[in-house]
Amino acid sequence: MTSHAESDPFPQASTGRRPIELLGGPPEETLIRIGAFMEARAAPPYRTEQVRAWVFDRRIRTFEEATNLPKELRAALDREFSLTPLEPAHVARSRDGTVKHLWRLADDEQIESVLIPTSDRLTLCLSSQAGCALGCTFCATGHFGFRRQLSGAEISAQFRDASRFAESEWQRPVDRIVYMGMGEPLANLEAVQVSLDVLHRGFGVGARRITISTVGLVPGILTLASRPEQFGLAVSLHAPDHELRASLMPIERRHPLPELLEAIREYASLRGRRITFEYTLIQDVNDRPGQARRLAGLVRGLPAFVNLIPFNPIPFVDWRPSSAERMAAFARTLQERGVQAALRTPRGRDIAAACGQLRLEAREPAA
Ligand code: SAH
Ligand code: SF4
Repeated sequence: MTSHAESDPFPQASTGRRPIELLGGPPEETLIRIGAFMEARAAPPYRTEQVRAWVFDRRIRTFEEATNLPKELRAALDREFSLTPLEPAHVARSRDGTVKHLWRLADDEQIESVLIPTSDRLTLCLSSQAGCALGCTFCATGHFGFRRQLSGAEISAQFRDASRFAESEWQRPVDRIVYMGMGEPLANLEAVQVSLDVLHRGFGVGARRITISTVGLVPGILTLASRPEQFGLAVSLHAPDHELRASLMPIERRHPLPELLEAIREYASLRGRRITFEYTLIQDVNDRPGQARRLAGLVRGLPAFVNLIPFNPIPFVDWRPSSAERMAAFARTLQERGVQAALRTPRGRDIAAACGQLRLEAREPAA
């Protein structure tokens, strides 16, 4: 059970009271709280349903927007509850249509989310932590280090505020959510689980349209596997053997490949879903034919799909993305061995919104 007080980033020093974050707990609990609030004020019970509809269907950011509620009731709701409005500190638009939001949180921390439109769908990539502690060598977020955990409400509010933007700019709903922004979702498991509850059962996003991407934290994968929903799982692999993976991703030392693959097998069989492997192709580091063959050997037999992503250059290392020929050959080697794989085109590179490029440009690296 999640404590609302614990994840509440809006302490009110003057009164000692903190407003309850409506996006900070399972929606069923939130409705019970609103119901109790209405009862205490002798307001008619249908007001609870009205508030639910405003919060989750109409996606209000302030109670001001709930125009069919009496003014005094809105003011009272505002004193008691918070909707965790995120302040858009910056909006960057890519030539390819991708839009990156920089959100300022209540304590001035900043996080990013990215909207990625294609002809047939609109994907939102959201952040689960401010920074990241896991230090993958190819990732800009990793180089900047960890700042703090996000609350479940802060994660969910990115969806609400980015989808409001999409509706008003493009008249399009967000129809897919990926936890591929800043941070490692399974290193912030409690808040991420709250956000899954809020996005799925509150805002009504289908579980199969939500994908959690992980560096490979085995306990978190097993926790997700035990949930009833069919959330998508993406695992960042990036190397077919222990030595290379450990040099790119320190987590490999804590949860080596055999243990990781076992957890993935469990997820796939319990949840009945194919796993996505993310493999970033870095010139002359992990893109050789022999490495493609080893990768095929590793994932063959798993219900898996391999996404091949050209490395997105970052300022901290002088690696380059693999050439088009190498990438095509890598994909072919996998496919010839019965492994499903596809080459992905990075989006939003010109605004540093592509995978692994999210970082706070105005900030110094964490010490
Ligand atoms: N922490 C999670 C999710 C956030 S990173 C994870 O690691 O999976 C989202 C994806 O971007 C991951 O697959 C990550 O490996 C990848 N990535 C990181 N840096 C990258 C870069 N410079 N180029 C391409 N992909 C990168
Ligand atoms: Fe963290 Fe993922 Fe970046 Fe690794 S790739 S440093 S886990 S955000």
